[in-house]
Amino acid sequence: MRPLELDPLFKTVESLPGIGPKSAEALARVTGRDGPEDTRALDLLLFPPHAMIDRTLRTGITEAPEGTIATLKVRVDRHQPSPPGRKTVPYRVFVHDGTGEMALTFFHSKQAWLEKILPVGETVLVSGKVEWFNGRPSMVHPDHVVAESDADSLPLIEPVYPLTAGLSPKLLRRAIEAAIDLMPTLPEWADPHLVRRNSFPDMAAAVRQLHHPESALDLEPQTAARRRLAYDELLAGQLSLALVRQTLRKLPGQTVHAEGRLRGRVLEALPFSLTGSQQTAVADILKDMAGSDRMLRLLQGDVGSGKTAVAMMAMANAVEAGGQAVLMAPTEILARQHYATIRKMAEAAGIEVAVLTSRAKGRERKDLLEKIASGQAQIVIGTHALFQDSVSYASLTLAVVDEQHRFGVHQRLRLTAKGTAPHMLVMTATPIPRTLVLAAFGDMDVSKLTEKPAGRQPITTVTIPDERIEEIVERLRSALREGRKAYWICPLVEDSQDSDLMSVETRHSSLVKALGPELGRQVSLVHGRMSADEKDQAMSAFKSGETRLLVATTVIEVGVDVPDATIMVIEHAERFGLAQLHQLRGRVGRGDGASSCILLYHGPLGETAGARLSVLRETEDGFRIAEEDLKLRGEGEVLGTRQSGMPGFRLANLSAHADLLEIARTDARAILETDPGLTSPRGAALRMLLYLMRRDEAIRFLRAG
Ligand code: ADP
Ligand code: MG
Repeated sequence: MRPLELDPLFKTVESLPGIGPKSAEALARVTGRDGPEDTRALDLLLFPPHAMIDRTLRTGITEAPEGTIATLKVRVDRHQPSPPGRKTVPYRVFVHDGTGEMALTFFHSKQAWLEKILPVGETVLVSGKVEWFNGRPSMVHPDHVVAESDADSLPLIEPVYPLTAGLSPKLLRRAIEAAIDLMPTLPEWADPHLVRRNSFPDMAAAVRQLHHPESALDLEPQTAARRRLAYDELLAGQLSLALVRQTLRKLPGQTVHAEGRLRGRVLEALPFSLTGSQQTAVADILKDMAGSDRMLRLLQGDVGSGKTAVAMMAMANAVEAGGQAVLMAPTEILARQHYATIRKMAEAAGIEVAVLTSRAKGRERKDLLEKIASGQAQIVIGTHALFQDSVSYASLTLAVVDEQHRFGVHQRLRLTAKGTAPHMLVMTATPIPRTLVLAAFGDMDVSKLTEKPAGRQPITTVTIPDERIEEIVERLRSALREGRKAYWICPLVEDSQDSDLMSVETRHSSLVKALGPELGRQVSLVHGRMSADEKDQAMSAFKSGETRLLVATTVIEVGVDVPDATIMVIEHAERFGLAQLHQLRGRVGRGDGASSCILLYHGPLGETAGARLSVLRETEDGFRIAEEDLKLRGEGEVLGTRQSGMPGFRLANLSAHADLLEIARTDARAILETDPGLTSPRGAALRMLLYLMRRDEAIRFLRAG
């Protein structure tokens, strides 16, 4: 149960003053929560400002430099309302001080209100941006207007928060202040030595300082308050991961012994031999599975490094020992593809493979569930449907989770909470830097695939402005005539607020038209709103060569394998993240043919966007790309947490706070060693921290274990 003291902080934001349903929606978006209901006062407390406005500049009207924020003490002379019926003409209020005169300009503002806050003849403080038009100073919609007697209420330093439409800065600040007032006294969970060494304020004080910066320095990640909160966030993360790990390990081990008969048959049937690093990874896995502890291993390997074959070896091993193995993929397309690949590999060894996704219905689903429950299905491939309550396994020995770069901590928790306790192999495609592995997975054993399978051709990458799109279409036409295959990727269009983004459907029809009747027939379309059947059909038509151009959104990003596709065009490349571009590019260069990747961008490119695209031109080394990505964008996006629903880091910054991550990891381990059930007073405080940092799923889990 959540400690009662925390109840006020778990009030919905909508219950805070000034926050209505619309603002609550906006806040849910900016704070990354699931919806307004799930957005609570404490989410605002832990929502850091990213900039501040300095209103400390006090000058005379005519001395204020163009475009700067200034606070002026002025006397109100006269009001000049908009002429009747002409609302587009602004309402002006003329004011002066010892240096000269200026106009305060308002659009669509109520006269009564303006007369109330700016009474003629009174002296007031106004703060806002001073702009000069035709040699006259003016201030359009001052940010603050206060009577001279109220001067203290004017915030000279004002934190600024990332905003979305539908949320005014003033409302947000008011709501945050209200949330701050709800904060109870919190016990200290951090180690006293750590607190002293770092001059950490307590968490409540740190939250207050976070929202009341006194200078730009207070926004730096290295202030004591920021470091305190970063530590808390990292500790909560490490602790919840350690709890998962602890519980997993506690479950009785299933020692898997197999001579390697089935593995050998699979190997023999493969059209290639394993690379050195694939062999090493397989050896690591076999050793883990043969031990008495549960395996918890991360298999990291760049796109195309051949993780599937490694997973197949592990699964064959589990099956030979009389168990079942599952492989969970993040998307339906990928599950089907894995099924096709794995079934082929498994055939030689006589292993029975089944596929289970949410698509299976009625009779078909019932049969499948029976096969799984009886153990007849030895390997089961699927999406998260694999772990629904209705699915029971005869003897689940190994779970392989293909996460690509969408981390699904939830799924892993669900799997373990189900009471099934298989060995676990997590595969990730993004070669994430070590700090991120630690942050996202905690202490997991790691195997890395560092070699590319033999025979891979390098991919030529070019960046081209989208004005030259016709040239690209011409090149594509001749490539298709030569019998080559190409992908054309468009950015995802959510509810198409961005009408300047070419939607994938529009692009599909314009390409069909441009390529003419004969080639136009060879174009398929795949996007997220299509039904699974339609997607399958389009994918298999492309795979078989019935179609040669696949126009798609990023649904194909994860793991699609069509070795004879050699051209990748990515439209609006500047809108994608580096890791994502790398993933997409990895769809080509998989066969013997020379491949190319064309990054179409919409200029002009900002500095970061330019730097990002040139990294891709320069290297195919996924690890380097990941490091650069981290430098250019910050960890939340590198981890792809936005799509995954995994709580990202809001307060911690993994490049600035790497030292704290190490400390948090050590602390989490030490805490659970002495107090595995978090039952001591400090343990109780730590439970509170887990709630505060929205890691309560780990607490539920603690209770179950
Ligand atoms: P990923 O690591 O991205 O999941 P896959 O497992 O899909 O990579 O493998 C990519 C491609 O490389 C597949 O077509 C697979 O058959 C092939 N492959 C895997 N291992 C080897 C190898 N050792 N030698 C040659 N090709 C390989
Ligand atoms: Mg894969």
